[in-house]
Amino acid sequence: MSGAWEVALAELQARLPAGRLLAGDGDALEPYGLDESDLGCFPPGAVVRAENEEDVRIVLEVASRHRVPVVPVGARSGKSGGSLAIQGGIALSTERMNRILEVSGEDLVARVEPGVILATLQAEVEKHGLFYPPDPNSLETCTIGGNVAENAGGPRALKYGVTREYVLGLRAVLPTGEVIRTGHRSIKGVAGYDLTALLVGSEGTLAIVTEVMVKLLPRPRHVATALVAFADVDAAARAVSRVLAQGVIPRCLELMDDVSLAAIARTSPGRFPAGAGALLLVETDGNDEEQVFDEIVRVADLVAADARGEVLVARDEAQRREIWEVRRYLSVNLKAIHPLKLSEDVAVPRSKIPEMVARAKAIGAGLGLAVATYGHAGDGNLHCNVLFDTAAERPRVDQAVAAILRAAVELGGTITGEHGVGLAKRDFLELEQGKELVALQRRLKAVFDPLGILNPGKIFPPA
Ligand SMILES: Cc1cc2nc3c(=O)[nH]c(=O)nc-3n(C[C@H](O)[C@H](O)[C@H](O)COP(=O)(O)OP(=O)(O)OC[C@H]3O[C@@H](n4cnc5c(N)ncnc54)[C@H](O)[C@@H]3O)c2cc1C
Repeated sequence: MSGAWEVALAELQARLPAGRLLAGDGDALEPYGLDESDLGCFPPGAVVRAENEEDVRIVLEVASRHRVPVVPVGARSGKSGGSLAIQGGIALSTERMNRILEVSGEDLVARVEPGVILATLQAEVEKHGLFYPPDPNSLETCTIGGNVAENAGGPRALKYGVTREYVLGLRAVLPTGEVIRTGHRSIKGVAGYDLTALLVGSEGTLAIVTEVMVKLLPRPRHVATALVAFADVDAAARAVSRVLAQGVIPRCLELMDDVSLAAIARTSPGRFPAGAGALLLVETDGNDEEQVFDEIVRVADLVAADARGEVLVARDEAQRREIWEVRRYLSVNLKAIHPLKLSEDVAVPRSKIPEMVARAKAIGAGLGLAVATYGHAGDGNLHCNVLFDTAAERPRVDQAVAAILRAAVELGGTITGEHGVGLAKRDFLELEQGKELVALQRRLKAVFDPLGILNPGKIFPPA
């Protein structure tokens, strides 16, 4: 270990209150070296479990002086390796900054620390009759800070949008140790550059977020859910277009392809009509129960021509949960068939959904691999899961993934709809965005982080 590292640690030990710094104990550090990306374990040299903004400021100020890398860490549910300490250094964990500071029904805002678990925030605001819509499927574990860093979205993004649309303002500490406050409590506000929007989705490379002010909505009182089977993905995609073209915006439109359906059939045999090759899960919501039900019936009418068999509309909460289980257990069911899988999260224009699904399948078939595709069809965000059984197949899987990302870009889409670039896709950023835009972003990064100490090696390929 270098002298600078030892001095930095000694300074942190002296300046941080007791119990914040973890160093020297490999077993304690190792969990901080993992996320949900399947990229391996990169333990940091030390962990600081910050309890407030001043702790964060001290860490960045010391790290900056000694040129030590700092990696912000939330709940480590990330799927692109963003929180991995690939160059060692300090993992700055927000797990103890988990207070909900305020929920204001009058201003329709909540102020929270970054380590608050998303489901905790949602449950709290719902007690006040309010609603925070972004709903990544990891909501029981992921933090708001991680959601802000990744601009997370979920099934409800179709109607309500993603995290960026709900962040009104932030407090954050820059790599130099300066504390900044961006945004405003008012809904409107156009002063200066929109740095709130820039920090959302910056994957912990520009600043460490220490407080988030989010916009809330009144909670929709009623939700209706339906499941529809189709002969194939083309028919399901046609149905999606027809629904959206008629001005109906359901809150979710989740698509599952034939490989996904085969996996579901293992735990729910005989549930879908014979010959079904795709499923759509549809959900509508609002305050007027009759109107919400009428809307789902309208969706059912619009998709009937393409559907195979009856549209299954949930009659009560238990049936709603049953329908959602089909989607929620999909990943587990796929793993029961193939123990290993690599899940990509491309997004394409809605009109290209059938072509994207077909190309992902063909790419897999060409390499002797099955690909299951499911995801948020309403907004074109598709999870293409390359399925495999042994580590020996991994080189072919990586080839398939690269070809899937290229196909998404060729179809006018993106290499990542919600999981972020991180470490996993940094080599593909230029493919999507071109040299000039990547170079401009590198310059932006240098303005915030002139010494390159904050989450180094992420988003951009090594220079
Ligand atoms: C089962 C499962 C389902 C998922 N479903 C979805 C989904 O539907 N939609 C979706 O968008 N994602 C999904 N994800 C991915 C993941 O949950 C999200 O990216 C989430 O936002 C990460 O939050 P986290 O707290 O775990 O952050 P981490 O994984 O700890 O970190 C993620 C990134 O955020 C940075 N970061 C964390 N906290 C801060 C902070 N305070 N300031 C600055 N940077 C910070 C880190 O440096 C890292 O780059 C899923 C993951 C799993 C495992």
